[in-house]
Amino acid sequence: MNYYISLILLIILNISGNPMLIAQSAQDTQSRNLVGCVSGNCQNGQGVFRNSSGSLYEGTFEQGKFQGTGKMTYKDGDIYEGEFRNGKMHGPGKYSYSDGKTYEGSFENGKMQGNGELIYNSGNRYLGSFQNNMKSGEGTFWFNDSSRYEGSFAYDKMDGYGTWFYSNGDRYVGNFAKGKQNGSGAYHYLDGNLYEGNFLSGNFHGNGVLTLKDGSYYTGEFKADNLNGFGIFYYASGDVYVGSFENGNYEGCGTYYYANGDRYEGDYQNNLSHGTGIYYEAGGEATRYHYLKGEIVGEGVQLAHISNAPLKDIKKTDPSTGVKEQQSSKASNDADVAKPANNNSISQSRVSVTTEVAMAGIAPSTLACTACKGKGKLYQSEIRKNKMVTKDISNGMGPRNFVTYSVNEIVRPAGFVGCGRCDGTGQVQVE
Ligand SMILES: [Zn+2]
Repeated sequence: MNYYISLILLIILNISGNPMLIAQSAQDTQSRNLVGCVSGNCQNGQGVFRNSSGSLYEGTFEQGKFQGTGKMTYKDGDIYEGEFRNGKMHGPGKYSYSDGKTYEGSFENGKMQGNGELIYNSGNRYLGSFQNNMKSGEGTFWFNDSSRYEGSFAYDKMDGYGTWFYSNGDRYVGNFAKGKQNGSGAYHYLDGNLYEGNFLSGNFHGNGVLTLKDGSYYTGEFKADNLNGFGIFYYASGDVYVGSFENGNYEGCGTYYYANGDRYEGDYQNNLSHGTGIYYEAGGEATRYHYLKGEIVGEGVQLAHISNAPLKDIKKTDPSTGVKEQQSSKASNDADVAKPANNNSISQSRVSVTTEVAMAGIAPSTLACTACKGKGKLYQSEIRKNKMVTKDISNGMGPRNFVTYSVNEIVRPAGFVGCGRCDGTGQVQVE
């Protein structure tokens, strides 16, 4: 009798005491796998509690919840030590990830929120504001390559306004989006070069100004960190290039103004004259050539030898010169300045032609072209110039590194060219 009563009582006591314990014991009797209150007071006071996911809490309880100071050891190896409230991490604490990463700072409702420090096992470090477990607000991020970012964060990434100090001494100040330079900003190279303008996904992109340490500067369009599109390059030498760029090179249509007043106007490919171009001398002479990769192909045509040419002859035979002058006038102050002097000499030469005709006593319809002495060809001496170009000497992996240098080239070879004023006929018409 006594034996059976005792057995029944034991069963009743166990069931009413902790049914979970009994169920767990049936599968595994080792205490580290027990779920529930392992020891102490897990209602109000100090206790040890294991939850259903296997994480172990050691600390203070209030009304059956983690409240106050405690330590949570997660099943995956993560450890949190700090303040709890209402069962969640709340207040100051330290969270150590199993992979070595640590967060020390403020928590709210179980999440990193407020100010804290995150140290990555890569060596990267962040100190600043957190929101909803992510870097958000103002903070500083130290990269393991000793570069650092100071500024605004959003959704765990550099976002908003900030400064990035690169390990090589360069510095970016401006806007960021999704971890990259985006919008307006300035990239200061350690060597003195400076880019100010628009960025897109970390690249110079859109309109910007690149100022080089030698005083040269480019204002215009950029793409993929390089000069691309329409732009103007003002060189320290006084030379100016106005026109089209592609991947940092003169490409397409452009005008190169030499400091002495000469200019080349025409087609380019890979920084070289390529296609049709006209070389204008400061004195007014202009010769049209065909270029192939910087070399002159075939015989040129002298379009205007303005100091000798009759006005009517220029109008008739050199319409292209007039058109070109108009096209370039917006960009060329030199051309505008040169015009009064040229017009003056044109008037004088017109008078001389008229006088020549009057002296002959007749009114011929044509007259031997004085410029080419009726031969239809003119001899021109060689012109050699230094052309400034820019080059990106970076490996293309990081920020671009621009340098300027000059290329010496023959822009007008010595030799005979067709006389444009008489269409090569050696005769000019007179009224
Ligand atoms: Zn001629």
